[in-house]
Amino acid sequence: MRSTKGVTIMSHATISDGFFPIARRDGIFKERVPDAYKSQVNLSEPTVCSQCGAVFNQGHWQWGQAPENAHEAICPACHRIHDHYPAGFLTLKGEFFRAHREEIMRFVRNHEKHQRAEHPLKRIIAVEQKNGTTLVTTTSIHLARGIGELLHHAYQGVLKLHFNAEQKLLRVNWTH
Ligand SMILES: [Zn+2]
Repeated sequence: MRSTKGVTIMSHATISDGFFPIARRDGIFKERVPDAYKSQVNLSEPTVCSQCGAVFNQGHWQWGQAPENAHEAICPACHRIHDHYPAGFLTLKGEFFRAHREEIMRFVRNHEKHQRAEHPLKRIIAVEQKNGTTLVTTTSIHLARGIGELLHHAYQGVLKLHFNAEQKLLRVNWTH
């Protein structure tokens, strides 16, 4: 249901232009397209990220020991963190969330820790609080969706996803 009609979105002050509702199992989550932020299409292999030490090899950024002859570059996650340009925007709100915020945020942080340990490009950039709403920004749309699914699975509530196909940005809203 990647609708091209913006009618329902327009009334939604929190959803910016270019975002359309998508299903939780939308095909975009199956695509294994590398993060094109600061387009690193022709990166030589192996390359090591000079910021976090992740190694680009066989088309993926992975944790590991960089060979001595490795090229140096900055990985998309470090670029996004440096530029404060997230790929995922996760908004958490509602009475239940406010009442259990500490526990829920521990859960979120823990999930990120495990994801990041396996995937260098899945990281939380920042957590911001405003009027009882918490915004978690991430370097990966998959991490934002994964956290949303995790919270929905653990606590129920309402989970909504909006995707901006042009800029490949995902907004995840969880209300409970
Ligand atoms: Zn890096």
